[in-house]
Amino acid sequence: MRYLVITDLHANLEALETCLSDAGQRGYDQVLVLGDLIGYGADPNAVINRVRDMHPVGLVRGNHDKVAIGIGEAEGFNYVARTAAAWMLEALTPENRMWVAELPQGPLVIDDLIEICHGSPIDEDTYIFTERDAMEALVAAVRPLCLFGHTHYPVTFCLQDGVMSGIGPSRDAESRLHLDDGVKYLVNPGSVGQPRDGDPRAAYAIVDTEARDVLLYRVPYPVEETQRKVIAAGLPEALAWRLTAGR
Ligand code: ZN
Repeated sequence: MRYLVITDLHANLEALETCLSDAGQRGYDQVLVLGDLIGYGADPNAVINRVRDMHPVGLVRGNHDKVAIGIGEAEGFNYVARTAAAWMLEALTPENRMWVAELPQGPLVIDDLIEICHGSPIDEDTYIFTERDAMEALVAAVRPLCLFGHTHYPVTFCLQDGVMSGIGPSRDAESRLHLDDGVKYLVNPGSVGQPRDGDPRAAYAIVDTEARDVLLYRVPYPVEETQRKVIAAGLPEALAWRLTAGR
């Protein structure tokens, strides 16, 4: 089985379409989505519709998805994120708002190898940045490979015989992580729609369960088109400019 893994799409249609066409050429069987489909970007309905059409076998909600339906904590958001959340509440169609409301909370076990979550397997809103965060998450994980998002930072943590190590982010357009027996892995493929590792390219992964490989990809997309739409929508311009820097 080859799973396409996408997270933190953030209503960026150009980045999503670029990832889907790149992944389509490489080939995949099923789709896993780790949350934050919306928030920040100008195309929440188009992105939701695209994801719905793919019928993901695994899908969890993110904190921005919760805010869209009034159950998230917009108080924790800064001015820009709050303004974007208010814009999104207006923009979402009633049907898509209902669909978002039914997104499940992670973690979600997919098969013998994989589980998915938005923030951490301990809590959907927790950020995994440090090795200490990762250690707690890996201890809580019930599968050898736990896929997460939320930080928009492509990184891998491995736990073997009680020893933790971190890998990434890579500057390569493609990188391969082979999953060894007896090791637990925590992998963030990076954000599709708003990368924050200083690399503006969209990020996604394919997990090949037979080869036991995680393939990590970075693809350039038409950032200027996305920026034009963000500004035309009346969203805070900072949300457009940060896409150039990937911050
Ligand atoms: Zn996010």
